[in-house]
Amino acid sequence: MTVEEMKAAASEQIDKRGEELVGLVKEILHNPESGFREFETSKRVQKQMDQFNIPYEAPIALTGIKGMVKGGSPGPTIALFGELDGGIIPSHLHANPQTGAAHGCGHNAQIGMALGATIGLRDSGVLDLLSGNVAPCILPAEELIEVEHRLGLKEQGKIEFFSGKQEFIRLGALDDVDMVVMAHVRGSAEGSFLIGGSTNCHVAKYVEFFGRQAHAAGNPHEGINALSAASVAQHAMHALRETFEDGKTMRVHWVLTRAGDELNAIPAQVNMEVRVRANVPELVAELDNKVNRCLRAGALAVGGQVRIRTVPGYLPMINNPDLQELFRSNAARFEDPSSMVIYPPDYVRGGSEDLGDVSYIKPCIHPYTAGAVGWNHSDNYDIVDYDKAVVRMAKIFSMTIIDLLSDNAAGAKRVMSSYTPKMSKEQYLAFQRARAMDGFFDYAAEK
Ligand SMILES: [Zn+2]
Repeated sequence: MTVEEMKAAASEQIDKRGEELVGLVKEILHNPESGFREFETSKRVQKQMDQFNIPYEAPIALTGIKGMVKGGSPGPTIALFGELDGGIIPSHLHANPQTGAAHGCGHNAQIGMALGATIGLRDSGVLDLLSGNVAPCILPAEELIEVEHRLGLKEQGKIEFFSGKQEFIRLGALDDVDMVVMAHVRGSAEGSFLIGGSTNCHVAKYVEFFGRQAHAAGNPHEGINALSAASVAQHAMHALRETFEDGKTMRVHWVLTRAGDELNAIPAQVNMEVRVRANVPELVAELDNKVNRCLRAGALAVGGQVRIRTVPGYLPMINNPDLQELFRSNAARFEDPSSMVIYPPDYVRGGSEDLGDVSYIKPCIHPYTAGAVGWNHSDNYDIVDYDKAVVRMAKIFSMTIIDLLSDNAAGAKRVMSSYTPKMSKEQYLAFQRARAMDGFFDYAAEK
């Protein structure tokens, strides 16, 4: 078979299974679970992989799955990533009414892409002609949210890092993977495909302000108001924003996850989750120090206390130029190239991806496809074109893998020989561990 014949055969096979793949994706849409809680989603995906006869290891990092299908001869291993988790968007059309979880970022579609590309290559017989392996990995917890829940998992020794890909790296699940491809379905996309660019680096923070309870009307002078501490801290963080340098995509944003208990009682504990982002890790560290100052200022102002825990977040995405070009050329079979948006490597999206972490140690790509309406992470996000979001992406990824692993894996070897990792796995783990912080600041004795 020529490369063209292989691509046609894999695509034909994906079309045959298209309905089944889209059915799976829709079923997951209607049963959303948030990160490190995706036990039912994981079971459902494992059942599908059993039906497709894809061998896998599970669970990895609580709910993750690592499949592996071998090619006709040995060679590099290309991982296809999909994510299990939804976000927490209670007002989303397809939210779980009990938990508020919802697939507001289209991770369910990624699972269809990864499994579709795998069976397209294998069941067409194409994989037998390739030199290397395909590893469909379906990972937990891409959204770094519900920090309090994950701190609990960490205390129980169930996780160390707070995202699925970080945990896959730590657990060695990617040690035998040579490169990774994955995509998101972008709501209201400004083109048919968005390719290249980078993402923001970040840390997450879990902050607890402590005061002293007293009757809010009877003896307010005896209380120390933790909500007031949080309020001052929020104003201080707002004030930081005018110092943000243009072009560095600096962001500080937060939610209160506990803002007081009973109206008659002065709030004695207020909890906050904060995210600090910028285009490079050095700037995140600098901004994070300033945010810590703001948080301490809140506690100082009321004579309270604050515990600040900083959780290592994600690194900026590095899209591998060789992999990106293969993806682009295959995507161009489906859309007029003028409709595709190619971002320069230094274009930074405000959001963040834990594939960024993987891209520091292995060649990766993370393009976006159209196929959804609304904004990612908002209640109006909805996949409306399942061919674009699932079936076509499975085809493009299968074609990209054919380009990589045909001709004795010449394409993949080219990618690997021109790639210089930013860090070794050991350097990565040391770097991330050094970003963690746990500090307690007590101003209760301040007069
Ligand atoms: Zn996402």
